[in-house]
Amino acid sequence: MNVSVVLFTSDLRVHDHPPLRAALNRGNHVVPLFVRDPAVDRAGPPAPNRLAFLAACLTDLDAGLRERGGRLVVRTGDPVDEVCAVVREADADDVHMAAGCSGFARSREDRLRRALEADGRRLYVHDGVVTALPAGAVTPNGSDHYAVFTPYYGRWSRERLREPIAAPRRVPVPDGIRSDDVPAPADVPGVSAGLATGGEKEGRKRLTAWLGRGADTYEEGHDDLAGDATSHLSPYLHFGAVSAAEAVHRARSRGGHGAEAFVRQLCWRDFHHQVLAARPDAAAGDYRTRHDRWRRGKEAEADLRAWREGRTGYPVVDAAMRQLAHQGWMHNRGRLLTASFLTKTLYLDWREGARHFMELLVDGDVANNQLNWQWMAGTGTDSRPNRVLNPVIQGKRYDPDGAYVRRWVPELAGLEGAAIHEPWKLPGLERARYDYPDPVVELADGLARFKHARDRD
Ligand code: FAD
Repeated sequence: MNVSVVLFTSDLRVHDHPPLRAALNRGNHVVPLFVRDPAVDRAGPPAPNRLAFLAACLTDLDAGLRERGGRLVVRTGDPVDEVCAVVREADADDVHMAAGCSGFARSREDRLRRALEADGRRLYVHDGVVTALPAGAVTPNGSDHYAVFTPYYGRWSRERLREPIAAPRRVPVPDGIRSDDVPAPADVPGVSAGLATGGEKEGRKRLTAWLGRGADTYEEGHDDLAGDATSHLSPYLHFGAVSAAEAVHRARSRGGHGAEAFVRQLCWRDFHHQVLAARPDAAAGDYRTRHDRWRRGKEAEADLRAWREGRTGYPVVDAAMRQLAHQGWMHNRGRLLTASFLTKTLYLDWREGARHFMELLVDGDVANNQLNWQWMAGTGTDSRPNRVLNPVIQGKRYDPDGAYVRRWVPELAGLEGAAIHEPWKLPGLERARYDYPDPVVELADGLARFKHARDRD
């Protein structure tokens, strides 16, 4: 009996899964394995929303494998030790897994390869599982990655992606391999009330529904805060419950402007992953330093607290921050304007914002989160690093009648139209009716402080 181990990481699905397909082609039995690594939990802030979503994805992956005669084996511990233990238990010849993009994932692969080789076994690392196009598959002349999105998109669009792979009919798993219990979403405390349901089945249902109707209005509607007309597929893509390559194929065969605009966003996802793969240090340090000396001290801490709690006095900023707390998710326009507000208007370190997002976001992803934060902070790949989004203008443009603000900032629910974006302008008596804070900073003062800081060099 030939046995292969398939190590699942950010690819929690049975459809379009190259490592699973390769393992089934080679051996006649596979051990589908997921290792819960306590070091991952310790490395960052607690993230109950992602833990609950992960648990739902694992439960669903186990169900998908059981429908095919198999099951998921779950272990807890150092992934290299655990994989090697399972390999010995199953007397497996090899291990198949998806290539990762972060420094953490790369070093895990290297350690695993060495440990397996020392034991006479092989590691097969498959590209293009986590991203649509493998990170590093295309590069500009003279560099190991694209630092500008538009030329990357041009090149990416011309590349041929691998064809999606059907889910296997049978997944035969050898008997007697010990497994921990598959974690249950309900066991995770502290989860946001409005968290989406995780899992491959749910993700595929949403992708189908999205390509059926949703994508039609995507191009015009993707910035409409209240309309909320984006796909909401980000957590499914983050955990690999939906395959990015399959999503691109299906969107392209559907066709239309909305579908192509959606594909462009999937390309942004690949773009950030290829930047991180080439520059793993960008997870924590500036991709391009602007020599910032971010504000610190008591006043800065109070501003950071107000931002986190959605009490900055700028309604659209506060609405977005409260959406994040409630749903573990935030509209992209909200992410842009809250990130601009923190890093530019308040001139606070992008890492503080990225950390808070990582604590709450169900789709929190090192490549997408850290590099989008850096893009907005001007330390990343944006060619206009000093652009500042004015929250009043943004609010009036993307939430013109204030429906988004009214939904998330109920204190202002009595206000109509554009006035909702500038409550401090209300006449005294009327202003007093709303229990809502004054702005933490005047926009002009924030802008002057930021310009002064960036002009210093
Ligand atoms: P759609 O608009 O339907 O887009 C489809 C998919 O394309 C998304 O699911 C996502 O996978 C990808 N995508 C869209 N926009 C971007 C982008 N700018 N960069 C990379 N991929 C993109 N996205 C995450 O997945 N995880 C994060 O941790 C994350 N942090 C962010 C932090 C900041 C400060 C900003 C400005 C953006 C961040 N994004 C992040 C990108 C983007 O906001 C989300 O992917 C998007 O809002 C998710 O909603 P959706 O699935 O409905 O997106």
